[in-house]
Amino acid sequence: MHTQVGIIGAGPAGLLLGHLLHLEGIDSVIVENRSRDYVIERVRAGVLEQGTVDLMIRMGVGERLRREGLPHQGLYFSFAGRRHHINLAELTGGKTITVYGQNEVVRDLIDARTATGRPLHFEVGHVTIHDMDSERSKIRFEHNGREEEITCDFIAGCDGFHGICRPSIPEGSIKHYEREYPFGWLGILAEAAPSSEELVYTYHHRGFALFSMRSPKITRLYFQVPPEEDIANWSDDAIWDEMLQRLTTRDGWQPAIGPIVQKGVTPMRSFVAEPMRYGRLFLAGDSAHIVPPTGAKGLNLAATDVMVLASGLAEYYAGRSTRLLDDYSDICLRRVWKAQRFSWWMTQTLHRFPGESEFDYRRQLADLDYITGSRAAMTSLAENYIGLPLDIQLA
Ligand SMILES: Cc1cc2nc3c(=O)[nH]c(=O)nc-3n(C[C@H](O)[C@H](O)[C@H](O)COP(=O)(O)OP(=O)(O)OC[C@H]3O[C@@H](n4cnc5c(N)ncnc54)[C@H](O)[C@@H]3O)c2cc1C
Repeated sequence: MHTQVGIIGAGPAGLLLGHLLHLEGIDSVIVENRSRDYVIERVRAGVLEQGTVDLMIRMGVGERLRREGLPHQGLYFSFAGRRHHINLAELTGGKTITVYGQNEVVRDLIDARTATGRPLHFEVGHVTIHDMDSERSKIRFEHNGREEEITCDFIAGCDGFHGICRPSIPEGSIKHYEREYPFGWLGILAEAAPSSEELVYTYHHRGFALFSMRSPKITRLYFQVPPEEDIANWSDDAIWDEMLQRLTTRDGWQPAIGPIVQKGVTPMRSFVAEPMRYGRLFLAGDSAHIVPPTGAKGLNLAATDVMVLASGLAEYYAGRSTRLLDDYSDICLRRVWKAQRFSWWMTQTLHRFPGESEFDYRRQLADLDYITGSRAAMTSLAENYIGLPLDIQLA
């Protein structure tokens, strides 16, 4: 079997890329090692930047997003018992973010892929890639008990942080930059109507907490815990108790409580692989970079990567020009590093670090007081949060 672009991974990056290529008339095969249901039900990110929403609408996969997504004009920073509103739209000339679960994005993209009739194989095993520096790169895998091989003009490594693409690159051809954080996030989904229409980022003496939502009936909440925290140590009552201690403000605002339908602990890491290309293998999304979720950037970065990659591949197939493909890594990394900077900044501004003194706590409160009191500081936060533009214009 031969295809123009072999895509490994059916997360947001792989599925968006597959559909963008379809719109350009470019063949692809997507292989995914998990089942369809597992991929659709995996609860992860939920905040889409304006650019990601615009992309999905332009691609013709934004109908449900437009109908069911929750557009937010702003967000709150909460500290010392008070919530402070930051009006993102007013500070950025009308741009907004939209709350729409990553699993809904993935569901829409799988439906769109299925409708094209182009191949999308779930539950493949033992995926390996070969000859990435040749014009006939290969993907091998097992499917329905058979060994398969696909030759490809290009391979897109969209297989997330723990995938096989990045580790298949010969050592020394790629450099890794990494930072681990001394905490993770305990996250829950609760069947409770959100008590705030907008997200509330909270800095508390006991640690960070975030109030968010997935729909008018589902609240999504997180708080900072040690990185190795075992979720089994947290009963639902203990989770609500901690949540309420951190999130409740002096005016009596607090999240509505309801049955917890999902809970887990996610470690936090910053990671960048440079360059995002080796020969004919292009890394996109989490396979190339990870951000702590505080800035809500992971899914949005994946979308931007594949937008650039799809344009580069379209340019290549239209006129055999490799100009944009050659610049792919540099174009993406410039934006990735700015998102890394912002995600790191949000994380260190809103979390408590082990060994911090009372001086550090008061200094961080002053930082937040400055941010929420200065239009210049709020504008900087707002333009980063709604998503920085790409430095180049794509066709
Ligand atoms: C546990 C977790 C929680 C998160 N929570 C948040 C959050 O709350 N807020 C936020 O903004 N961001 C969050 N993120 C980040 C965000 O979800 C990611 O940035 C986003 O999923 C990136 O999309 P992707 O397509 O690049 O990677 P992924 O979504 O990871 O997709 C990669 C796909 O490749 C598949 N795959 C892996 N290995 C192979 C293989 N060998 N062969 C074939 N397929 C393979 C995987 O099953 C997966 O479907 C979270 C990430 C994780 C891991």
